[in-house]
Amino acid sequence: MNIRDAIVEYSKQLDIISDTPRLDVEILLQKALGGVDRLYIHLNLSKELEIEQEEIFLRFIEERLKGRPIAYIVNNREFMGLDFYVKEGVLIPRPDTEILVEEIIELCKGKDDLDILDIGTGSGAITVSLAKYIEKSRLTSLDISEIALEIAKKNAKSNGVIDKINFIKSDLFQQIVGTNLKFDIIVSNPPYIRKRDIDELHTQVKDYEPYNALEGGIDGLDFYRNITEQSKNYLKLGGILAYEVGHDQAEEVVKIMQNNGYNKVYIKKDLQGIDRVVIG
Ligand code: GLN
Repeated sequence: MNIRDAIVEYSKQLDIISDTPRLDVEILLQKALGGVDRLYIHLNLSKELEIEQEEIFLRFIEERLKGRPIAYIVNNREFMGLDFYVKEGVLIPRPDTEILVEEIIELCKGKDDLDILDIGTGSGAITVSLAKYIEKSRLTSLDISEIALEIAKKNAKSNGVIDKINFIKSDLFQQIVGTNLKFDIIVSNPPYIRKRDIDELHTQVKDYEPYNALEGGIDGLDFYRNITEQSKNYLKLGGILAYEVGHDQAEEVVKIMQNNGYNKVYIKKDLQGIDRVVIG
């Protein structure tokens, strides 16, 4: 089997599970060929796969056909132009979350010495990008999951920002209660799917991504209520609270923030025009 045959044949097969079958095949080929870049694939369409490469590739295809997300198969996802190692146990970074990160970077322009708290760090996508792109920042990054913290640390190292981040295993604010830590910005992309909606998620989310990174209680707003209430104890005067929210949750989250004394609360849309970020 050469590269061209693999792309044609397996794009067809992956069509039943993936919205991007051809891209998926190309990414799996890149990995099976030992980490070559996309250009290599396109410049070598007639190249025969070695037996071992073909075996690896077919194993990847089998996994993908069952629904396993591409990012978990190749242990990588790009976010904000950076490479993130991912595996089962952390949510795969989503492009929507880039809107949240971009907005915070914008708000931080021209400001020095920023202390930022990230609640529910997961793979470290938000934390690592902020540390990377906001020069004078220090991050404190909390997660309840040991695996998440391990992966986030790995990503902080590979992206050269480990020295700017203090990782703490903590259920929300629990481990920083009574520490007197105060932040300029608190950011979170908490679990926000309504309990009853979990079953309707795509197989590749429901069966592979961590439940505790997805489910946000009966109305999906548990974490917003909880974090917003406590956040006031940890913000400096004029500090900012910034959230990613579910597609129909922005108005509710705005209300929660206003009820807790936040002003200048506003919404940012994602690239599909969906209300995705709430800042106050
Ligand atoms: N955006 C994710 C999804 O729809 C959910 C992420 C979250 O709950 N924070 O699958």
